[in-house]
Amino acid sequence: MEDVNFPQRLVHVDLKGAPPRMNYYEQIFPIIASMGATGLLVEYEDMFPYHGRFSHLRAPHAYSSEDIAALHTLAATYNLSIIPLIQTFGHFEFILKHDEHRPIREIEHYPNALCPTHPDSFPLVTKLITQVLELHTSDKFLHIGADEVWHIGKCPRCQDYMEDKKMSISEFFLAWMFKVAWWVKKQHPHLTIIMWDDMMRNVTADVLKSSGIGELVEPMVWQYQTANFDLPSDIFSRYSSIFKGLWTASAFKGATGSTQFLPPIQHHINNQLTWKRVLSENKGEIKNFRGIALTGWQRYDHYAVLCELLPVALPSLCLCLRVLTQGSFTESDHDYVSQALGFPHRINVLPFPRPQVVEQGANFPGHKVYVGVQMWSNFVCKYQAISNSEGMLGWFSDYLRSRNFTNPVQVENIMSQVNEVAENLSELRTHLIPWLLEVVYEDTVEEWVGSFIDPLLKKLTSVIEECKTQIMIGGRVRDYKKSDY
Ligand SMILES: [Zn+2]
Repeated sequence: MEDVNFPQRLVHVDLKGAPPRMNYYEQIFPIIASMGATGLLVEYEDMFPYHGRFSHLRAPHAYSSEDIAALHTLAATYNLSIIPLIQTFGHFEFILKHDEHRPIREIEHYPNALCPTHPDSFPLVTKLITQVLELHTSDKFLHIGADEVWHIGKCPRCQDYMEDKKMSISEFFLAWMFKVAWWVKKQHPHLTIIMWDDMMRNVTADVLKSSGIGELVEPMVWQYQTANFDLPSDIFSRYSSIFKGLWTASAFKGATGSTQFLPPIQHHINNQLTWKRVLSENKGEIKNFRGIALTGWQRYDHYAVLCELLPVALPSLCLCLRVLTQGSFTESDHDYVSQALGFPHRINVLPFPRPQVVEQGANFPGHKVYVGVQMWSNFVCKYQAISNSEGMLGWFSDYLRSRNFTNPVQVENIMSQVNEVAENLSELRTHLIPWLLEVVYEDTVEEWVGSFIDPLLKKLTSVIEECKTQIMIGGRVRDYKKSDY
């Protein structure tokens, strides 16, 4: 098997959730650069400082233009390039959720994809790109997204258009991407344009060729699985016959479940190794391999809950970068990264099933959040175990409680176990909030605590209250209810 190198190793920074504070970048850039990152693929989403007519698109804690300038200076210090990513077709939720942009939805009640034949769509997309590029004048690449465009050719206007031009869905998709990329290239001839490949994955070479897209963009083939990639067998030769360059994308987090909270690191390591193998096997077919982006999805889409936070996934990111620079994953690679991040032991790459021993003692930026989330997941598991315990199921069922027919001996035992979890969780909450605030903004802390701690605390409190009531009732005669039987 021929060896393969990854000329570029980009770290995807997905800002559609839990965006880091600026000083967190300052702390992690030296680490990721030393581990082999060559650049950043920055998916701003609503964190970009859109202005003028588009200032409403900004999130409450959106970066300022000064922040983005500072990000460039900082990245340059560590020889990291910056590639901005802006969606231009699907995953347009952060724009289409606003009432004023509702008319350009492809399907009126779905906020996912824009309608390419609506007269307002193209001016909107080009204006947004213009604002983004104004703050990226020194950068050489632009990623225009275009993955997972599920709603395409659905509105009557698009259907009429396609019928009139005798276009298939693929041709229609490519025509829009061509239009966008052509415009970018005309304004900024120095830019190399990248786009996700999944919408082109099964499109024939003839259709790709006649679309003209090959002259304008370079595809980024994403695959986050291990062992077997779900890719057409001719993909590399087909793409190499059409496009001037080829990119791939793996994942270091945010790809194993929309509610995942700790990255299953071994999975992500295997994903990098699989990419390495697949590229080596196809090396003869690939004309101009540009490199890989390690994606770190922060939500599955704009509306989803948060998945693994960046500080929680920094060990995974560093291990994955190590795999890409070394081409393998040995015990000495494992030790190297563990020591670099200040772990007193080897990083645990198999964090599931929970509960597990919490990995204390590391000192990388954000390590307290890493510890806190592990502790939280252990408490969640502990409560699940209590809920499924014989005491709870056998002596504290919904039926028995509704009839006030419980034995205080059992209830006291349940209450003390639930109480312990509630106290631990409550204490963790007071520590985790300031730990999180060191890394992310207030709105992320509100969301994380509001999603994953407070609902559980509320539940635990209500169980404790019910235990108290039942203990007071003190094991009396069952409340019989009149039945229809
Ligand atoms: Zn349409």
